Amino acid sequence: MQAAVNAGRIMAQSHSGVAVEVVQETGSTNADLLARAPALAAPLLLLAEHQTAGRGRAGRSWLSAPGHSLTFSLAWRLEGGLQRLTGLPLAVGTALAETLGRLGQPVKLKWPNDILKDGDKLAGILVETQGMPDGSTWAVIGIGLNLAMPDELEARIGRAVASMPWLARMDRDALMAALLDGLAGALDEFARHGFAAFSARWNLLHAYQGEPVVILDRGEVLHEGLAAGVDDAGRLLLDTAAGRVAIVAGDVSLRPKP
Ligand code: ATP
Repeated sequence: MQAAVNAGRIMAQSHSGVAVEVVQETGSTNADLLARAPALAAPLLLLAEHQTAGRGRAGRSWLSAPGHSLTFSLAWRLEGGLQRLTGLPLAVGTALAETLGRLGQPVKLKWPNDILKDGDKLAGILVETQGMPDGSTWAVIGIGLNLAMPDELEARIGRAVASMPWLARMDRDALMAALLDGLAGALDEFARHGFAAFSARWNLLHAYQGEPVVILDRGEVLHEGLAAGVDDAGRLLLDTAAGRVAIVAGDVSLRPKP
């Protein structure tokens, strides 16, 4: 277990100018920032040492152990409505993966927005939004990143998961500052150019490029084919027996074909 994270030290090491708050314990940093977003004047990063009700997509949960992970959310206001946010979770995944790569820790992306190390999930991303009366939208970008993975936690998650012992030894304030800078840069870029600025970069990091995969909807196979990367809207391109299809994220899950 590492020293406690410190908001002042994160801000001092970040070049983003984003305000940072650290809390000891909360249910969900995404829930907290969604509640606060309408009153925020500027982006805010909220990190919890212990998140007790971390959320995944479609009501799934994100589990973590205090001191062994980074669990945080970044609230960021974007001009325009929801349609302007197409592909944002994938852009966030690209930014995270590129930052980890720069830190010497290469990772891959699983559509739509998981970070994989050696085929297992290292980090999860959940983007939730809140529309504002002026037509802008607050995006709350939640990230859980495993640093160490105690056996007891892996047993509770119930599937193989990844962790990063090398990152676990890194100063967590410095790591958080590097991730924040990567995210802030990517969000600026996303605001200007949308996901089109990220699709080629996402494809370079794609874990299953050219490989057989299945797309599941609540356990049922919806499609199967060869994964051909993503398009400029963040849709997964799948080469099936009936030709190429483009799949919208929704609540479907991708798995390598058994
Ligand atoms: P899938 O991983 O099935 O494709 P998903 O990407 O939509 O689904 P998320 O909603 O992003 O999944 O994350 C929630 C899932 O992640 C949980 O259902 C659980 O299986 C897994 N999980 C929960 N905590 C962790 C963790 N600390 N590390 C890795 N995986 C976790």
